[in-house]
Amino acid sequence: MPGALFVSDLHLAAERPGTNERFFGFLQDQASRAERLYILGDLFEYWIGDDELQAADGDPLARAVADALHALSRLGVGIAVMHGNRDFLLGERFCAATGARLLEDPAVEKIGGVRTLLMHGDTLCTDDLDYQAWRRTARSRAWQAEFLAKSLPERRRTVQAMRAKSREVVGAKPAEIMDVNDGAVREALRTHRLTRLVHGHTHRPARHALEVDGRPCERWVLPDWYDGRGGYLAVDDAGPRLLAC
Ligand code: MN
Repeated sequence: MPGALFVSDLHLAAERPGTNERFFGFLQDQASRAERLYILGDLFEYWIGDDELQAADGDPLARAVADALHALSRLGVGIAVMHGNRDFLLGERFCAATGARLLEDPAVEKIGGVRTLLMHGDTLCTDDLDYQAWRRTARSRAWQAEFLAKSLPERRRTVQAMRAKSREVVGAKPAEIMDVNDGAVREALRTHRLTRLVHGHTHRPARHALEVDGRPCERWVLPDWYDGRGGYLAVDDAGPRLLAC
């Protein structure tokens, strides 16, 4: 059975109950038989702070997801979570509530005997200059402190307004700008001297073969869970494969 499973871009949200149910089913079924589960970003459509888990007006879905992950940890499955561009405020309290460990982006982990570079994928989309500027703002201490000082309802309103604006901007951008930059992919593999990269974010599931400095490399892109889809990458000693669920 698979050693490690990888998911990303589930974008769990109360308004998509079908996806949430599919994810809970995945945790109980496939993930419960794995050694490790890697969640490489955008588990949630948005995450406005770990106090969501304790507050009386917190989102019940957030609590339900944390409980399901905690149940999986208690079965002995090692869970690792990386920030995505929507849930980068997942923090220590979320980890304590779920038993997950927080991964840096990028992270290097030995998986199925191969040292593997793990990323969410947004930092590889270097052609999207507006997004990279916003990312620097949103990852700054100053922006985060100001945002987290607001009440949960205020934060929800702020995020919903940002998302409405982002949909307009994204809709107007050419598709190639929203994909990874080939040079950025090569640079990441070169810097870490690795031959295997796994990332999500672009919603373009695939295996890409490439050569970096004469070494054969592979880049695995994880599927999103939108519109009735769902899937994961399974990696064991037999190698990686993309599977639907
Ligand atoms: Mn993303």
